[in-house]
Amino acid sequence: MKQIDLEPRSLEDYRPLVGDRLVEELYAQSAQLQGVRVAHINATAAGGGVAEILRSIVPLYQTLGIDASWWVMDGSEPFFQVTKQMHNALQGAEREFSPEQWALYQSHNEAAAASIADDYDVIVVHDPQPAAIMRYARLRARRWVWRCHIDTSRPHGRTWSAFRETVAGYDAAIFSVADFVAPGLDVSQVAIIPPAIDPLTPKNLPMDVDEARAFVASHGVDVERPFISQISRFDPWKDPLGVIACFKRLKQRHPDLQLVLLGNFADDDPEGQVIFEQVRAAADGVPDISIITGLSDMVNPFQMLSRVVLQKSIREGFGLTVTEALWKGTPVVAGNVGGLRLQIAEGIGGFLVDSVDECAARVDYLLSHDEERQALGASGREHVRTHFLMPRLLRDELKLIGEVLGLPIGFPVSARPGDTSALAAG
Ligand code: UDP
Repeated sequence: MKQIDLEPRSLEDYRPLVGDRLVEELYAQSAQLQGVRVAHINATAAGGGVAEILRSIVPLYQTLGIDASWWVMDGSEPFFQVTKQMHNALQGAEREFSPEQWALYQSHNEAAAASIADDYDVIVVHDPQPAAIMRYARLRARRWVWRCHIDTSRPHGRTWSAFRETVAGYDAAIFSVADFVAPGLDVSQVAIIPPAIDPLTPKNLPMDVDEARAFVASHGVDVERPFISQISRFDPWKDPLGVIACFKRLKQRHPDLQLVLLGNFADDDPEGQVIFEQVRAAADGVPDISIITGLSDMVNPFQMLSRVVLQKSIREGFGLTVTEALWKGTPVVAGNVGGLRLQIAEGIGGFLVDSVDECAARVDYLLSHDEERQALGASGREHVRTHFLMPRLLRDELKLIGEVLGLPIGFPVSARPGDTSALAAG
C-alpha cells in the first residue's frame, strides 16, 4: 500500500463558514481522541469522490491531534475489472463472478493486508475494493469500520451473499443514506453519515468571473452563449447518454444552448474508457457539445458559469459534483435517486427527475425563469453550508470513532442495523 502525502489544514479557516458551535464541538470531541491512531484505506488516490474527501479530511483529523493517515491499496487492471463489476453488482446490476475472480479479489486484499506495517486503534476501509483486508489483518486494529459510499439496498443476490461474508465482523459500517444499508448486513453497528465537500479547496473557492470565463472559453465553449454541464466520471450509472438525449430535446427550444460533458477517469475504474467512447459516438453530429477530459480539479469555472448543472444519475451514492455546483449557487437538475435526494428537495437547489423528458422539461423551465433559477441556486448553497461542508463530516466521523472505541462523545449518529430513522446531517 502507498501512504498519501497531505497538505496541512487548519480548522480555524472553516470557522467563518460553518460557525463557532461546530468548530468548538470539534475541539471538545477531539480532547478524548488525542494520539488515537486512525488509518483510512481506499483504492485510488485520484478521481472520484472518496479520494476527494480523504485528501481534505485526513489533515483535519491531524490538526485535531489525531494520528491519522491515508493509504491506497495497490491494484492491477484485472483486479479493478473485478472490483468495478462487484461495485456494479452491489448497486443491483446482474453480474456473476467465477471462483478465479473471487480468488483474485481475495489475493489482492491479502497482499494489501500483509503490507500494513503498524498497529492502529481504528482502520476505516472505504468501499468494496479493499473490504476484505480486515479478514487478513484483523489484529492490526482494535476496531474496523467499513465506509460504504454506494447504494447497496438492492444488491445482486449471489454477489451480495458472498460479499456479505467479506464484511461480516466489521465493528461498524457507515452508509451515506439510511436506505442504502444492504439486507442482512452482519456488522455490530451501522451509522448514517452523508459525505461533504471542502469549501477551501481551489475547486470550491470563489473564482474571479473573468478568469473563469477565459478558462471555459479556452476549452472551446462560447461564453457569450448559455451552457449546461454534467461533470462526472464516465460511468453508466451517471447516465451521460441520457444527458445527451436530454440536450437534443432542449436544443429544439433553445437553439443557442451548449452542453459541456466534463469528465475524468479514476484509477480503479477501468470502465471509464469504454463509456467515454460511447459518449463520443452519441455526441457525434450533435452541434454544440463539448466533451472535455483531463482537467481534474478545474471543475470550478464550469460549475460556476453553467446556467444549470445536470447530474442525471440512475444510482448515486451521494454526488459531490452536485454539492460542488450548489456551493457555487448553480441550480442542479438531478436523478431522483440515492444521495441526490439529500441535496435537492422541494424549493431547494433545483429539481429531481425520473426520465429524460422530465429532465429536459425542468432544465427548460430554469432556462426560461431566471429569477427562480437564481433563487434555487442560492437556497442550494445555504443547504450545503448547513449540512454538507467538511467539518460536519469530521464531527460525525469522530463521534463514530469515539463510539467504537468505547469513548462516546457528543450526540449519537449511529443506529442499529435495520433502524433507518437516523440521518445525522443536522
Ligand atoms: N471531478 C473532477 N474532474 C472531473 C470530474 C469530476 O475533479 O472531470 C471530481 C468532482 O469535482 C468530484 C469528484 O470528482 O469532487 C466526483 O465525486 P462524486 O461523488 O460526484 O462521484 P464519484 O466519482 O465518486 O462517483
